[in-house]
Amino acid sequence: MKLRRIYKNLICLSLSAMLLLSCTAISGCDNQKVKSRTAYEYFDTVSTVHSYGKESEKDFNKTADALFSILSDYHKLFDIYYEYDGINNIATINKNAGKSPIKVDNRLIDALLYAKQMYYTTNRAVNVAMGSVLKLWHNARENGLSSPKEATLPDWDLLMQASAHTNIEHLVIDQENSTVWLVDKDMSLDVGAVLKGYAVEMLGRYLEENNLTSYVINVGGNIKAIGKKPNGAPWVTGVTNPDKNSSDFAAVINLKDTSCVTSGSYERYFTVDGKNYHHIIDPETLYPSTYFTSVTVVTKNSALADALSTALFVMSEKDGRDLLSTIDQEIGVFWIYSDGKTAMNAQFEALLAT
Ligand code: ADP
Ligand code: MG
Repeated sequence: MKLRRIYKNLICLSLSAMLLLSCTAISGCDNQKVKSRTAYEYFDTVSTVHSYGKESEKDFNKTADALFSILSDYHKLFDIYYEYDGINNIATINKNAGKSPIKVDNRLIDALLYAKQMYYTTNRAVNVAMGSVLKLWHNARENGLSSPKEATLPDWDLLMQASAHTNIEHLVIDQENSTVWLVDKDMSLDVGAVLKGYAVEMLGRYLEENNLTSYVINVGGNIKAIGKKPNGAPWVTGVTNPDKNSSDFAAVINLKDTSCVTSGSYERYFTVDGKNYHHIIDPETLYPSTYFTSVTVVTKNSALADALSTALFVMSEKDGRDLLSTIDQEIGVFWIYSDGKTAMNAQFEALLAT
């Protein structure tokens, strides 16, 4: 299927097309009063909370304070680079690999249990214990971006050595004692593929527990729509076109009480000898996956959407469809191939805005 030229029919999207990131814009065509708050300090990205509800400005501010406080907590707990006073986080766990179990907050225990479960759910495509391999790619990218002329690929022998230290069973989570223990001193956790979506899911849970509906949360393109608009209409979201020369969205879909997450190769990459190398690594080849330029997943649980968008990115469409058939959830998927061709499953097709 060729990308459809739909943008001109959706001028209303630009009303609030505030973030050109992955799953993108939320429409406000019906001129409903929208209350919003944006923060820039979490998960290395832009986070926005929108309320379409009828609550007062004061009540919205209270909710936004609570949501950003939760997001801040998860940001600190999930940080793989920095430690923070008074808490043990993933950086602490990584620093103590091979040394000792680390006592952590129960929220981190639950998140890591979920991340570990995603390893099995995705048939090993998403492995948060792959930090050693991902670190080599991260460093190569950082060096390549700061000195493009000296950009080099990670050394193959080092990648192979690192891949020997990615065994998820060496991530030992003790729920009873609230500890996490990396058995292998050369392993480390990188939770970038799963836990941003998990944090967004937790924000959604807070809203649901407080009976707050008609909210949209967007953390760097991880979008969660709680309920629907007060007039019953869905929100409209554009999927970014990886082709930077195109101003169109690759697809425009309706979102109601669901999450939308895109994994793409077109934002975080570096270039060696004229070839781009992005940040989503196929555990089989230890190299950036080459099937697609983006994969978008729409499903209720934002953490599942995040894990699956990365997983489906590193496997063929056929393997992806087989994987989807093993998961007992309503999941819409939209694949964009490197040559611009696209594919979608029936669940995604049903979401297309006409
Ligand atoms: P983004 O972080 O850009 O939203 P993803 O959710 O797809 O995109 O996560 C990509 C990040 O996940 C990478 O930056 C890296 O830290 C990590 N990662 C890359 N490949 C894998 C993989 N196969 N398994 C687990 N984590 C991965
Ligand atoms: Mg992901």
